[in-house]
Amino acid sequence: MIEKMVIANRGEIALRILRACKELGIKTVAIHSKVDRDLKHVRLADEAICIGPNASKESYLNIPAIISSMEITDSMAVHPGYGFLAENADFAEQVQKSGFIFVGPDADVIRMMGDKVCAIEAMKKAGVPTVPGSDGELPEDKEECMRIAKRIGYPIIIKAAAGGGGRGMRVVHTESALINSIHVTKSEAGAAFGDDTVYMEKFLQNPRHVEIQIISDGQGNTIHLGDRDCSMQRRHQKVIEEAPAPGIPDDIREGVYASCIKACNDIGYRGAGTFEFLYEDGGFYFIEMNTRIQVEHPVSEMITGVDLIKEQIRVCCGEKLSIKQEDVVIRGHSFECRINAEDPKTFIPSPGLVTTYHPPGGFGVRVDSHLYSGYKVPPFYDSMIAKVITHGETREIALRRMRNALDEMVIEGIRSNIPLQQDLVRDSAFAEGGVNIHYLEKKLGL
Ligand code: ADP
Repeated sequence: MIEKMVIANRGEIALRILRACKELGIKTVAIHSKVDRDLKHVRLADEAICIGPNASKESYLNIPAIISSMEITDSMAVHPGYGFLAENADFAEQVQKSGFIFVGPDADVIRMMGDKVCAIEAMKKAGVPTVPGSDGELPEDKEECMRIAKRIGYPIIIKAAAGGGGRGMRVVHTESALINSIHVTKSEAGAAFGDDTVYMEKFLQNPRHVEIQIISDGQGNTIHLGDRDCSMQRRHQKVIEEAPAPGIPDDIREGVYASCIKACNDIGYRGAGTFEFLYEDGGFYFIEMNTRIQVEHPVSEMITGVDLIKEQIRVCCGEKLSIKQEDVVIRGHSFECRINAEDPKTFIPSPGLVTTYHPPGGFGVRVDSHLYSGYKVPPFYDSMIAKVITHGETREIALRRMRNALDEMVIEGIRSNIPLQQDLVRDSAFAEGGVNIHYLEKKLGL
């Protein structure tokens, strides 16, 4: 096992990684921007280095500064967390070329999955179910594009191969709008991502977002850790997640798990990864793969008892998976509510000094957060400040625990979305289970 690791992230995930490293006996180096010197993990790390000013571009996205920090501190590996450089193939490549370990898959694999056309191609080969669509990139020929759309059937969605974060997509309802929409999406994609490749998919009208967690050691051993439902979204941002996804027949989910495992072994995947699907009328449709640990990984940890970050670090440092598929037993149900520093009605960010902080607790309650009374939430980064996670023997018990946990939680000095979350976990359709990806926005009147 390695001796020392750089944590190239901030907030709750940096703290989560630090805790995993401590358990594994790995020394930690926290790298941070100027304003972040008061972050909890920075205080707890063995070493800390300020690598730049507050703007992410000059600190958490500053590749040369991060690599220098590894050299100066004699670290052997870097954990990118999520966001920032976690899915940046160039970063992974430079880390590896400099002789360090990147906690994630090889740069080539990140690059392939970052190009959605290539990713879909690889998935089809492995037998992962995909959305009916164009066979790869759309051709220049207008007539041909119209034929493809007709075959798929309207409505369709035009998507940029290099798209991400919910950008670079356009829904088309009628043939008369098709050619212009392709044109606009292409030029937007070129400007935003430096790649104007676009493709076409059937637009599913009322799907759920269901994703599958896998972990692989890159030595032929891949296992799944069940699925998660993340359909409660606003502007493509997940608000509440749960595991397992409710109401999916076992034979259907088992079939998809098997195809995801095959895909990982085929592409030589290493580390933790997530296959994202749309789920509609009993069918799974692959949309993309995330080659990193995700925000919502705790719900999978709660139902499997597997520490995903520790296992991810182990396999990326060359060890074999310590667990077999038959060791993974799904137990009970888990929810996660994301707590953001924002107005619960307008969603306007609310940075500032946290004067009082009382996290909830009790049996089956977990809080992943870097908050403490007296901490000042800076305005420069993502507004997520805590994740409240509950586990219970049944979905009903886990949900009751979440209601209690949110009622107990106190954050003063700044505004938070706790009131919104309190409302959502009491919503009758949500309590029923299986709402689709439009449900939350409709409820909010958006
Ligand atoms: P990104 O990488 O930008 O997150 P995704 O391909 O994951 O892009 O899609 C983001 C969201 O867009 C999905 O969660 C879903 O809400 C919507 N979406 C994408 N493809 C389709 C589709 N074929 N039909 C319906 N909705 C879609």
